[in-house]
Amino acid sequence: MAKKSARVHDRVKSVREEMHESMQFLKEAAVALDYSDREYQLLAGLSREVRVAMPLQRDDGSIETYYGYRVQHHNALGPYKGGLRYHPSVNLNALRWLACLMSLKTALVGLPLGGAKGGIDCDPKLLSRRELRSLTRYFVQKMHRNIGPNLDIPAPDVGTNAQVMAWIQDEYSVIYGYTPGVVTGKPTLVGGAAGRESATGRGLGIVMQQYAHHRADELPNKTAVIQGFGNVGLYAAMDLMNRGVKIIAVSDSSGGVTNKAGIDVQQLVKHKNATGSVLGFDGARDIDHQALLKLKCNFLVLAALSSVVDEALARRLKADVVVEGANNPVTYAGDLVLRDRDIIVLPDILASTGGVVVSYFEWVQNIQHMPWSEEQITEELTSRLASACDAVFAVATGQNCSLREAAHRIATERLKEALWITAF
Ligand code: NAD
Repeated sequence: MAKKSARVHDRVKSVREEMHESMQFLKEAAVALDYSDREYQLLAGLSREVRVAMPLQRDDGSIETYYGYRVQHHNALGPYKGGLRYHPSVNLNALRWLACLMSLKTALVGLPLGGAKGGIDCDPKLLSRRELRSLTRYFVQKMHRNIGPNLDIPAPDVGTNAQVMAWIQDEYSVIYGYTPGVVTGKPTLVGGAAGRESATGRGLGIVMQQYAHHRADELPNKTAVIQGFGNVGLYAAMDLMNRGVKIIAVSDSSGGVTNKAGIDVQQLVKHKNATGSVLGFDGARDIDHQALLKLKCNFLVLAALSSVVDEALARRLKADVVVEGANNPVTYAGDLVLRDRDIIVLPDILASTGGVVVSYFEWVQNIQHMPWSEEQITEELTSRLASACDAVFAVATGQNCSLREAAHRIATERLKEALWITAF
């Protein structure tokens, strides 16, 4: 076993040079499942990477060249699936591990989809609506052979939204005829699923509820601290408040606010809409980013950035449970410390899958040309996530490992089986 672990480790080092430290979690699973080096390589490797140059004429007449990317990790279980990110930091390296993470998410929740990630290295806040539309349409003109409802289905991610998806659908349909299933996260009027926008945040609430059941516990009167008040954090806060959880602190990029008696999330949303940040909210006092993360609470929900909890911070957290709403907010080293301290982590590949599950429902609806009601979507979402939670809790108990290790083992095994069947 030790020998095999060492072999895998050597290969992981080289893969990590071009991928991300979160690949350590995949490596751990491969070692625990006693996979050979060849099997691990099959899992860690990528199917395809595409980079396209897009010279855009700006509104002032100048030309600026942007680069668009799509990284496809695997499609053994179904078409590639993953977000499209518009951000200056977008590059192949940044997208590779995110594509792999998508594969693990779809595999864990049993979706017939693979994993991918893509984007454009632009700052959408600095582009006019016309520039953004032109760039998006240009991306489709250059990339259309690599996406499609049976090939690769993008969705909104950082810096993109339902409008961007609508432009993609339209440009793709110009080439191939009406094809709503080429993207998910569209406006409902043009084929989007009801409740897609709130799905990741609501999914966090569902997973936390399942965790409480698993512990024969209840959510009402538990306390939560939420880092991030965007798409994931805001809807998670609302969902948790509706489940009776007391939200005692919330932060956004400008800082945080806290109130031990609980924050009224609806009022905080109004305040943020009016002032642009959570700071200065009447119903709470301001608190800085680091102090907020170290507050004593039942649940610390990380819904903003990657690599927030490193080894040092992990030693100082006072939460009972860390919930990963963002992608990889706890580093590998941080995770090892949390395991030592018996702080539970509800891992990203389980907790933040609500969005991709509802994206899957949208894709199914588009193929069937039959919209579902929001109630049906919520019911199916709850049922899918509950099954995934049950599987993860059972493996964690049976194999005496953390929930993250359990989730990675299940997802990795499914991926490996599918890749093996299709490749050999
Ligand atoms: P978003 O841009 O809507 O919101 C991000 C929030 O984080 C904003 O409120 C921002 O102010 C805040 N933030 C930024 N820096 C911060 C800091 N230092 N401290 C506290 N808050 C800070 O993004 P989102 O869609 O909510 O996504 C959040 C994370 O979750 C990202 O990592 C994303 O990749 C991941 N994720 C999103 C989805 C989804 O469906 N939106 C699904 C899975 C994973």
